[in-house]
Amino acid sequence: MATKSDEDRASSYEPSSAGSDESHIPDVQNDCCNPLEETKYIVSESMLMELFNVCRRCQRLATPTVHQRVGTMVKIAAECEFCGFTWLWCSQPHVGSIPAGNIGLSASILFTGALPSKFLRVLRCIGVATLTQRTFSNHQASLLFPVVARVWDRQQRDYVTRAEDRGKPLVIGGDGRADSPGHCAKFGSYSTIDLEEGTVIDIQLVQVMISFQRTILCCTTMVL
Ligand SMILES: [Zn+2]
Repeated sequence: MATKSDEDRASSYEPSSAGSDESHIPDVQNDCCNPLEETKYIVSESMLMELFNVCRRCQRLATPTVHQRVGTMVKIAAECEFCGFTWLWCSQPHVGSIPAGNIGLSASILFTGALPSKFLRVLRCIGVATLTQRTFSNHQASLLFPVVARVWDRQQRDYVTRAEDRGKPLVIGGDGRADSPGHCAKFGSYSTIDLEEGTVIDIQLVQVMISFQRTILCCTTMVL
């Protein structure tokens, strides 16, 4: 069995650089503290396996196998046929217990407004290991929506503080939108904006017509 230190070493393993120009490749793992901001690549499995067919201890022939796949992450186990040395390598860092690439993919789909079913189908079509739509939905409900709500609450509190510090009357505009592309006839969104600062103060999902006036009052009360 590979030990924890084996895994640590293996995760930063690079094949022999003799005769190559690998010295020009930046050490992304050391330079980048946020795994979601690292550059990612599409790597064919056959090319990836070439990195693990040499034993890290005796430099003789080793046999790599795909040990585990979790969404976009792959874990490779390799065993030396001569000295019996084994090690594990993981293709992504983790955020908590979740591979960072899986969270990044779910977040990117949500925040860009892409359709998850289509986006995931594109990845499957070119053979890229990816999430299921159910996993995307779980990430959305358990991680992404709570994060969006927390950031939005923080921005609203910051706005109220700034508005109080200004110490003068606010100029606020509001408008509703319903029954247009992206909206249905029954529900609409109502937004209020600080016209001097250009900041969106609040957005409410409201039932068309009857609730619009009530929403105007609610939004205004919240700010004042
Ligand atoms: Zn060996």
